Amino acid sequence: MLHEIDQTLDGQRVVVVGAGVLGTMHALFALARGASVVHLERDLVPSGATVRNFGLIWVSGRAVGQELALAQRARDLWEHIALDVPDIGFRANGSITLVNNLHELQVVEKALLRDDAHARGFELLDRDAVVKRNPALQGVFVSGLFCSRDAAVESRTALGALRSFMEQTGHYDYLPGRELVGIEDNGVVDHRGIHHGGDHVILCLGATLSGFAAELFEDEPLRRVRLYMAETEPLGRTLTTSIANGDSFRYYPGFAAFANEFLERQPPLAADYAIQLLCQQRLHGGLTIGDTHEPETPGLFETLDRPMDIIEAAARLVIGPEMPRIERRWSGVYHQLRDPAPGEVYFCKEVAPGVSAITGAGGRGMTLAPAIAEESFQ
Ligand SMILES: Cc1cc2nc3c(=O)[nH]c(=O)nc-3n(C[C@H](O)[C@H](O)[C@H](O)COP(=O)(O)OP(=O)(O)OC[C@H]3O[C@@H](n4cnc5c(N)ncnc54)[C@H](O)[C@@H]3O)c2cc1C
Repeated sequence: MLHEIDQTLDGQRVVVVGAGVLGTMHALFALARGASVVHLERDLVPSGATVRNFGLIWVSGRAVGQELALAQRARDLWEHIALDVPDIGFRANGSITLVNNLHELQVVEKALLRDDAHARGFELLDRDAVVKRNPALQGVFVSGLFCSRDAAVESRTALGALRSFMEQTGHYDYLPGRELVGIEDNGVVDHRGIHHGGDHVILCLGATLSGFAAELFEDEPLRRVRLYMAETEPLGRTLTTSIANGDSFRYYPGFAAFANEFLERQPPLAADYAIQLLCQQRLHGGLTIGDTHEPETPGLFETLDRPMDIIEAAARLVIGPEMPRIERRWSGVYHQLRDPAPGEVYFCKEVAPGVSAITGAGGRGMTLAPAIAEESFQ
């Protein structure tokens, strides 16, 4: 991949701050275009949204237009990057959204009639066909929407794998434990007072409630959303596709209009937390399951059990009673655009001459990151 991209940044120096997936992809694409890269990260080991996510590279539910186009491009880029960096754990496993009633089936039928159904890789599977494609599903469902374009990566190890790859270029200088505390034209200052200047400076600071990043985004049209997640002990068999349940139709913009038309209201707690089931098996066999959605606010540090009880029950329903016990839980926060303009998919702003801040890709940032990075340097 690094060898096939034009060298439009040849000889230039790029400073990237933030080593989540957005910052790491910007570092990768800057190197690929011939730049040398200095990459700063506040934490000794990045522990933001990226390492907490499912690793779903999710095309199926994207909104028609720029969001879908970017997701399709990003999915291909992930696959391409995996040729050079196999340890990102890319797998073109597809997804199945399980259907349990007539209303959910009506949503699927509408989705199948769209012009872009083929491009999304949609196929309606009856129960037998679902089980044939994913024999680990031994629970209750009547059919499923397969999406061949969905994929997955290993979110906890992908960043390290990408950094190792970049280090081999000899043009990549990674500086963990360096917090950005100031911006200057074409440069930044870290907490030790050291200035890092470049031809381009890209800030990918994710969503935090305190410090420089919080102040930077204080007046911007962004909201922070908190999600609950959990992981089971190893399943003991392979989940050959990612899975979702029919509640996910409510929350993915590509389905939401049909869901509004056909689905009944969710029970109050599920509605309050915007609960859906998404599930991805990690390479070690455990199932990452989630998720909820609530505004992240100062002082909110606990996670409640009841919302995750609903998600666990939904997972057990489709996987079957042998689903192993949950062995760990966590929460994560992402930045999402408030009231995006048509076609606006993420937040990008020049905050000083030569210094751009990029965030706000919401629950699709893992999916979109390579395509966003590609756009930044076009
Ligand atoms: C629980 C959860 C599940 C999700 N699941 C998916 C999914 O399956 N698929 C998908 O497409 N998207 C998913 N998302 C969304 C996706 O994870 C995010 O959009 C994406 O990871 C954001 O990447 P980022 O690099 O902007 O942020 P982060 O990963 O949070 O990285 C930001 C980095 O910047 C660093 N930083 C912050 N401030 C400073 C500073 N002042 N100086 C230096 N460094 C700083 C932080 O330490 C951090 O390492 C999920 C999100 C969550 C929370």
